[in-house]
Amino acid sequence: MSSATSTEPAPFTAGHFYVLLSMVAATAAVVMARNTHPAALLLLSAAALASGYTAYALHQAVLGLLSKNRAPVLGARQREVLEQDKATVLRAIKDLEFDYGMKKVSDADYEDMLGRLKQRALLIMEQLDSIPADAPQVHAPAVRSAGTATCARCQTANDGDAKFCKQCGERLGSVNA
Ligand SMILES: [Zn+2]
Repeated sequence: MSSATSTEPAPFTAGHFYVLLSMVAATAAVVMARNTHPAALLLLSAAALASGYTAYALHQAVLGLLSKNRAPVLGARQREVLEQDKATVLRAIKDLEFDYGMKKVSDADYEDMLGRLKQRALLIMEQLDSIPADAPQVHAPAVRSAGTATCARCQTANDGDAKFCKQCGERLGSVNA
């Protein structure tokens, strides 16, 4: 009996979790507090980032004591979170542009918020780029192991799932090239 759920924990260090958490929190703060004063926004954002980095630094310090393994595994989970964050920011930009179109936002606020959101989007994309390409994929493409089955008698290349050679009719063994 095998319960093949997709809840297998992806390699994801707690340190990255803190950074991501702070990024998400900062993004959320910027998005939620759109109508507050810019100074308050900065404070909110900074506070969220600071708390995240503090937790991260603390964690790194503890990790440093516990192990010498400084090569964190950047994985699919991190990519997932970043993609979500990116989507949030892009949606916020759309919303902002809509509100601006409806004249709900002043020119100054629009410029200010747009710049802020674009900066955040850029940061997220940089983070996404920094994830190695060989990081484990969330949705691994289904691997069809149907290569070619070469006939032992006439050397004809048959489909991998063929049972008999299409050329000479020889029974094809389970030879997977
Ligand atoms: Zn054959």
